[in-house]
Amino acid sequence: KQSSPAQSEFYQAAEEVLECLRPVLEGSSYYHDHGIIERIVEPERQIMFRICWTDDEGKVRVNKGYRVQFNSALGPYKGGLRFHASVTSGTIKFLGFEQIFKNALTGLPIGGGKGGSDFDPKGKSDGEIMRFCQAFMTELYRHIGPTTDVPAGDIGVGAREIGYLYGQYKRITGRYEGVLTGKGLTWGGSLGRKEATGYGAVYFAQNMLAEHGTSLEGKTCLVSGAGNVAIYTIEKLYELGAKPITCSDSRGTIVDHTGIDLALLKELKEVKRASLEQYLEQHPQASYIPVSEYPQDGHAVWRLKADAAFPCATQNELTDADAETLLGNGINCISEGANMPSTANAVDRFLDARIAYGPGKAANAGGVATSQLEMAQNSSMEQWPLEKVDEKLKAIMTNIHQQCAETAKEFGKPTNLVLGANIAGFRRVADAMIEQGIT
Ligand code: NDP
Repeated sequence: KQSSPAQSEFYQAAEEVLECLRPVLEGSSYYHDHGIIERIVEPERQIMFRICWTDDEGKVRVNKGYRVQFNSALGPYKGGLRFHASVTSGTIKFLGFEQIFKNALTGLPIGGGKGGSDFDPKGKSDGEIMRFCQAFMTELYRHIGPTTDVPAGDIGVGAREIGYLYGQYKRITGRYEGVLTGKGLTWGGSLGRKEATGYGAVYFAQNMLAEHGTSLEGKTCLVSGAGNVAIYTIEKLYELGAKPITCSDSRGTIVDHTGIDLALLKELKEVKRASLEQYLEQHPQASYIPVSEYPQDGHAVWRLKADAAFPCATQNELTDADAETLLGNGINCISEGANMPSTANAVDRFLDARIAYGPGKAANAGGVATSQLEMAQNSSMEQWPLEKVDEKLKAIMTNIHQQCAETAKEFGKPTNLVLGANIAGFRRVADAMIEQGIT
């Protein structure tokens, strides 16, 4: 840990998992005897590469590219690509590690991987985005394939980027195959994939609340983020009778006590790619809190009173102080759309308070699960109706919740879904690794 401070997020993720595994590892030497812990924290392969592209002025630009192929015990590596200025090899390693257990929880045949670049898509023209994606795929194509490694989107990689990446893969290899998920609906995409992570996080909350004898109906909800996951979390919250009153981007937070205007949010973020501040032009009753006015020890969005919270932007966006405020304000449900959005101390507070707390690797697994459904449709050359995909998504989220809750109960901590998720995911991967021998 000391020799590699740049991997702090990876250590945070690994410590959480290893801490939860204590009762499994202390009870028997089985996993130790097979060297499972040493093997599972080490990626099978990490690829780092240079990406050269030209901007609209003809200037040569260079970025770093990454793909971590972490664990293939359960199936082809599966996990998104993140394009964001903050991306380092440590970020991708933490995300890849989380992905192993998340994918295992889905019960589907997918291994764990992740990739991305420190490329910043903000303010780039469509042409620049396309040239960057083409340059990225010019290296990545040799490491991926429909039965080896199937990337998807993540922060900064949506339908537009997946399209450019796919076009370049096809141009280089001459193959029309399911090598990426999140594709357009006319060229191999699955209905319901775009919505799946957000919808899944809400289904997970619904499952947790049912266990606590309540539901989302009539509940006031806080949502952070204004991207793919946040938008479809908000959409599903409305469908279930809840009222989401916030959203945020990297510049600030919108608070609209009348309920977030979903059509306007989609227009601003999916079409115009504009700042959330423009929300006020149509909704003067709302307020906008710029990042410069956030509390020093956290995020403005978590300082409001509500019943449920859905962190859907990025890692460590919900601090210890935020958790304290949320609990003080009577929050009783947190479902994480983002990956590791709560700091370790915040997680401890939620667990101590025994509220309904769904960690990202369980609550946001609906996205990757639906990606696997897209792979299944591609390999059978079918396109399933939306109802079929949504039914499967709902069943998968219920099953993940059940596995986490039952495993937590087995280890004597019935409300601790962090423990349940980590142990249930680990056992599935570790047992497959042992059965496949020392590799
Ligand atoms: P998008 O790029 O669509 O949206 C990300 C949103 O979060 C944007 O509103 C962005 O603001 C904001 N954001 C990103 N980074 C930061 C930051 N450092 N500080 C403040 N705000 C930030 O990404 P997604 O919605 O796809 O992903 C959101 C989260 O969900 C991530 O943690 C991702 O790993 C996770 N996730 C996504 C899945 C998917 O299917 N897409 C699946 C499972 C998990 P701005 O617009 O200003 O950049």
